[in-house]
Amino acid sequence: MKHLVIAGGGFAGIRLARKLRKQKNLKITLVNDSEDFRYSPALYRAATGFKVGAARIPIEWMLIDVDNVNVVYKKITKINPTRKLITLDDGHTLDYDYAVCALGMVTTYFNIDGIADHSFGVKSVDEILELKQHIHDNLAGKQHRIQNYVVIGAGPTGVEVAATLGLYVQAVMEKHRIRNPRAQVFLVEAGPRILPQMSERASKKTLTELERRGVTVLTNTVVNAETSLKLKTSNGSIATQNVIWTAGAANNPFYRDNAQHFTFNERGKVRVNNRLQAQSSVYVAGDNADTRFSGLALVAVWHADFIAKDIKARMAGKPRPTHADAFPAQVVPVGKISVFQYRGITLGGRYMNLLRRVADFVGYSDVLGPLKALTIWQNTERIEDENCSFCRK
Ligand SMILES: Cc1cc2nc3c(=O)[nH]c(=O)nc-3n(C[C@H](O)[C@H](O)[C@H](O)COP(=O)(O)OP(=O)(O)OC[C@H]3O[C@@H](n4cnc5c(N)ncnc54)[C@H](O)[C@@H]3O)c2cc1C
Repeated sequence: MKHLVIAGGGFAGIRLARKLRKQKNLKITLVNDSEDFRYSPALYRAATGFKVGAARIPIEWMLIDVDNVNVVYKKITKINPTRKLITLDDGHTLDYDYAVCALGMVTTYFNIDGIADHSFGVKSVDEILELKQHIHDNLAGKQHRIQNYVVIGAGPTGVEVAATLGLYVQAVMEKHRIRNPRAQVFLVEAGPRILPQMSERASKKTLTELERRGVTVLTNTVVNAETSLKLKTSNGSIATQNVIWTAGAANNPFYRDNAQHFTFNERGKVRVNNRLQAQSSVYVAGDNADTRFSGLALVAVWHADFIAKDIKARMAGKPRPTHADAFPAQVVPVGKISVFQYRGITLGGRYMNLLRRVADFVGYSDVLGPLKALTIWQNTERIEDENCSFCRK
């Protein structure tokens, strides 16, 4: 019996556990630092009033039909590839034949003064709930006051949040009968255009839609500092108590803490060979791996599929596959439309929302299987405001 330890119960980790659920002579231990899986593509919606359960899914339920997996809710702190040993934060160790590290990214604030203390994040469900409560409480009871909302970072997450925020703010104001509402949403980007990872065409289409929705887009604008009352940028200050930081992601610190076993690219991602290995017994998958398109859920799923194939081949003594990067398609929701990009093709419009809905179903299915995916996916459009009696009405 071989032992596979999967560190990280995200897109790559859960997908891999599910892919190998029928593998004979393989025992799997999945280690995750929380009991929930984070479906990140739904986080921005949870921040703006939609069902939180679409973004936070109990791992136990996800793997209920998988018999050969034991789940441990701990943090991994060390790896020793020579002794094939993983250490957890409670001091316990796990020995392994194969290890897969897929620990995702963490937020970084680039040491900008005040941002860590005063801004809100959207990278975890806890951050989302804090933001949602803040938006709600900050609005309720504030008649006739201008409210500025500033989203920093115009990647897909920043765009999604900026486009949806106005609708949520408006809905809360209407429910609380706040008169003369004046809410202004800003999207601040240091670079010359929004969605820098996508084509210029995608960027232009998205800009038009954001402006149509009343979002003020400030490109070439560098954030210098934040205080409890304002955001200071290279283009002046904005009075605000509502700053949402989506701009910085860094590789998981686990790798730097174990740097003697890994090599890194200039962005701190772990270099892997053409089998996604950092060492012969250690694979690195998902956002952590230095592959061309890592940073997307679909790519993490593809990594897991590849590693499952390779482990099966190793166990069967068959020729091993090699990994090749494939182009992922991307669909970014921008309020009431979505923008789709695949290689040189860019399309935008309401009909692309359908594609995003399909992409979400595929995303849930990748980690849940189709039946469980359906139960979550069909409820993702539900608005939920469980804490406020006004909003519930
Ligand atoms: C707000 C947001 C929106 C996004 N939207 C999209 C989108 O629309 N489409 C898309 O394709 N991609 C999107 N992404 C990117 C996508 O979420 C990632 O590419 C994907 O989650 C990567 O999968 P992963 O398995 O590498 O890591 P993750 O899914 O992040 O999983 C890592 C897991 O490891 C756990 N962990 C971390 N450290 C430890 C430790 N030391 N010990 C044990 N467990 C640990 C974490 O809790 C987590 O469960 C978004 C990301 C964010 C932040």
